[in-house]
Amino acid sequence: MSSARIPLIAGNWKMHETIAEAEQLIAALLPALSTVSGVDVAICPPFLALQAMVESTRGSRVQVYAQNMHHAPEGAYTGEVAAPMLTEVGVHGVLLGHSERREMFGESDRELAQKLPVALDAGLTPVLCVGETEDERERGDTERKLRHQVQEDLAHVPDDQLGDLVIAYEPIWAIGTGQVATPEQAEEAIGFIRALVADRAPEQAERTRLLYGGSVNPDNAAELLALPDVDGALVGGASLDATSFAAIVAAG
Ligand code: PEP
Repeated sequence: MSSARIPLIAGNWKMHETIAEAEQLIAALLPALSTVSGVDVAICPPFLALQAMVESTRGSRVQVYAQNMHHAPEGAYTGEVAAPMLTEVGVHGVLLGHSERREMFGESDRELAQKLPVALDAGLTPVLCVGETEDERERGDTERKLRHQVQEDLAHVPDDQLGDLVIAYEPIWAIGTGQVATPEQAEEAIGFIRALVADRAPEQAERTRLLYGGSVNPDNAAELLALPDVDGALVGGASLDATSFAAIVAAG
């Protein structure tokens, strides 16, 4: 990873942790992170635990990100949450386009293209998730898929804001499977994503933080985080265990 970019380790809690459980997890995590420096840390709890986690992490190095957001500031969108609702409670960022949302909830590149500029304008750090399926990799379509997602999803982000984004490369075949990408696969894909951003704005692309996600654990984190274009990790399962997550942060 480049010394110019501060690494980010983000824990995606998905639909885990009631407020009471989240309080227990953060109470175990904060002391485990007390000696860590030089790395940004984010947790992404479910919506209902966001406010409690903002309060519990106040004064610590841990920032709180949401797992999704609607593009409209308000309106008749039953079940959705708007950017001003997130910033009101002190949320710092938002995951956008996680493969589970794309696959199970039909989230489209068109919707993501609307969400990204809204998140940036609201002062939220967006973490855009992209990645190929196992079939796409086997067919040799990985770069085509990444190019499509990156170009479509960033279409309305002004060039001078591309450096404020975080993009997580998450090969779908590696998420929750224990089958981690090899360092070569991760660096190749993430280097390709940086080149795509550089096609639009070379100086901004040096600032854009690019994360790897997919079965990161304390045993494989150091090798992945040492790769030149990898600026951190998006961690699912291992972020639900304070000791494991703190060990991954320490590797950052
Ligand atoms: C994720 O869902 O973003 C993820 C990376 O999950 P896991 O670490 O469990 O593979």
